[in-house]
Amino acid sequence: MPHTHRLMAERPFNLEALPTDGKQFHPNRDEAETEFKALRKEFVQLQRQLYAEGKQKLLIVLQAMDAGGKDGTIRNILKGVNPQGVRVHSFKVPSKEELAHDFLWRIHKAVPAQGMIGVFNRSHYEDVLVVRVHDIVPEAVWRPRYEQINNFEKLLHDTGTRILKFYLHISKDEQKERFQSRLDEPEKNWKFSLEDLEKRKFWPHYMTAYEEMLQQCSTEWAPWYVVPANQKWYRNLTIMRTIVQTLRDMNPQYPEAEANLDQVVIE
Ligand code: ATP
Ligand code: MG
Repeated sequence: MPHTHRLMAERPFNLEALPTDGKQFHPNRDEAETEFKALRKEFVQLQRQLYAEGKQKLLIVLQAMDAGGKDGTIRNILKGVNPQGVRVHSFKVPSKEELAHDFLWRIHKAVPAQGMIGVFNRSHYEDVLVVRVHDIVPEAVWRPRYEQINNFEKLLHDTGTRILKFYLHISKDEQKERFQSRLDEPEKNWKFSLEDLEKRKFWPHYMTAYEEMLQQCSTEWAPWYVVPANQKWYRNLTIMRTIVQTLRDMNPQYPEAEANLDQVVIE
């Protein structure tokens, strides 16, 4: 059974102690890529059935530090999937209207409907991460959000949504290399932002915020996976394995055909 990296943290833990390097779990990149492609085919098939069945919902949440690989994950995982059955939502700095509501308002509007897969590129977790690190709201406001988030996700779960949450765990050195290539390669320049360098200065604060949020919000009904993400091929594989295992377990079925289809004659 391959390692799933599901977080089981009953007590406070140290993110630095969890691996960012995937090579130790899978020494062979070629084999990993072959397995990934086979699983992606299966994913495409299962997604068709999920869509046709039109009953269950799957929500995939991605969180990471800047350059952690959220975009690349989405590109690789969703390649070949019927776009009608998937919605990707990227959550940016909230608008004035969004800020005039509770923090889950914009999130709830974006959750997947029956038959759909929803992917969150950033999420409601920003409201206990960036918001905490940069003192956007006081602790008395963000701390109760752990419980509010758990209750919200329980509601989604109880009404037919499977939830998978992936934290793409890269090392600080890996972030530096990725920022550097955004500077060096002209076609990656657009991804570089000076603001990302400002945020990098707060790395230890982010780690503390991530540790507490991961521990508080990894529940039975909505587990967090801490994915070693320094190697993109290992990150893709382990996320794909978890998604496919979950969809196999959801076991979506094509709906029953109308009766007596074999009698139908098309004039
Ligand atoms: P990329 O990795 O391609 O840069 P991104 O997700 O970082 O994509 P940006 O437009 O660069 O997209 O940044 C979005 C910003 O919005 C992030 O800095 C994030 O922390 C911020 N953000 C998201 N949700 C909230 C929130 N609820 N409150 C405050 N800031 C938020
Ligand atoms: Mg950014």
